[in-house]
Amino acid sequence: MLPQTQIYPGLLKAEELTQGDIVKYVIYLLYFLALVNLTSLKAENNLVNLDNKYSGIVKKIIDEAMKDSSAWERLAYMCDTFGPRLSGSHNLENALNWIVDEMKKDGLENIQRDEVMVPVWIRGNESCSLISPRKAKMNFMSYGGSIATPKEGITASVLVVNSFEDLQKKAKDAKGKIVVYNVPFVNYGQAVQFRWLGHLKAAEVGAVASLVRSVSPIGFQLPHTGSFAEYVDSIPKIPHGAITLEDAEMLQRMQNRGQNPVIYLYLEARTEPDKLSYNVMGEVKGSVYPDEIIAIGGHIDSWDAGTGAHDDAGGCIATWEAVKLIKKLGLKPRRTIRAVMWANEENGARGGKVYAEKHKHEKHHLMFEFDAGIFPPKSIGFRGPDSLFEIVNTFQPFITQVEPSFNFYKGGWGVDIDPMFKLGVPAMTFNTNDSGKYFWYHHADSDTPDKIDPKDLNKCIAAIAIAVFLYADL
Ligand SMILES: [Zn+2]
Repeated sequence: MLPQTQIYPGLLKAEELTQGDIVKYVIYLLYFLALVNLTSLKAENNLVNLDNKYSGIVKKIIDEAMKDSSAWERLAYMCDTFGPRLSGSHNLENALNWIVDEMKKDGLENIQRDEVMVPVWIRGNESCSLISPRKAKMNFMSYGGSIATPKEGITASVLVVNSFEDLQKKAKDAKGKIVVYNVPFVNYGQAVQFRWLGHLKAAEVGAVASLVRSVSPIGFQLPHTGSFAEYVDSIPKIPHGAITLEDAEMLQRMQNRGQNPVIYLYLEARTEPDKLSYNVMGEVKGSVYPDEIIAIGGHIDSWDAGTGAHDDAGGCIATWEAVKLIKKLGLKPRRTIRAVMWANEENGARGGKVYAEKHKHEKHHLMFEFDAGIFPPKSIGFRGPDSLFEIVNTFQPFITQVEPSFNFYKGGWGVDIDPMFKLGVPAMTFNTNDSGKYFWYHHADSDTPDKIDPKDLNKCIAAIAIAVFLYADL
């Protein structure tokens, strides 16, 4: 055990204390105790005041959000009617036109369309099949931005690898082959690197195409598409796409047995010049500071797989419905709350960049993004001053009325809000508790409205409406 003077070097030994010292210490102690008491009383008072002021409003928000499945009906209508919304597609433009009309019907104010030039990549026909040791169709989706194969397609032997290190070890066998990355999904960050960089690493060692086991924890014969790092001029450009977990495992078994599997790959994919699209937004005007903005939203574009229900129709509908709900209940936040549907996130992240360019001169207090799939609300990550985080954290007891385990934490990230965050605007990222299921649907044909529980969507809307209303009313 350490001597006391070493633990508290400022303290004198008892025998060295004078009467004056004792009086001084007692005064310090009393002052310290009073300070602690005052601080906790103040915090308690803040909570009590917040509760007195907002508990009625919060109850109204929750009751309204949970009362029916109209938000889910709106989501399903959009997904069913307009389909997947790849940037540059007619589907996306039709959906945007419909959103503008619906926002008008909701009574939202200052409805705007901001021009955004978006990338245009067209998948065209594509196919992948096993040629040897037997003939069989393989479910396949090229990655967005991939080049085409030559008109006659590519027929080549397969080289299966389990990591980039494994590819380096087998580099001398890769020339002229189709490299297949067979790497099980542990988490998105670990698995996605093969989608992101696989084409470059494979081309560097002479491969003619690159195929990746889909970035998903389950198979069910579904390929999952997505974006990848741009081709570079110093490395040959090769076609790049996703195969299923089942086929990746089969090719692995064949290679292990020395069966030398052969694949035929055919892609018509092409990139066209950028096209005009729009960020679309509508508002509830602030009652005291109408020129001060809280911007909340999701990305309205999706991959051309399924109908982009979780990613990110859900985030768009949930944030938009939260604003609609605040309007409908006649709540009058002090600052303006703006619902934004960002036009392009999946293959270019142009929506958020253009938003920042066009709106950086307006006074923004918060950028809020929801792009996590529709499951029960889990948390909000906050990036901004610590003093503001302390205030935001006092919202928690209101949102736990929607979902008991809900919490705030310091952190989070979002593609669409990052350009404004970098300009100094605080940011919130909304997260949901997906029980590991989000990547069952992510960028695949399985991402359709039937995978969304209307109650989960309603809970997300309630949680978002509470968080942004309280923030806008600070
Ligand atoms: Zn997304």
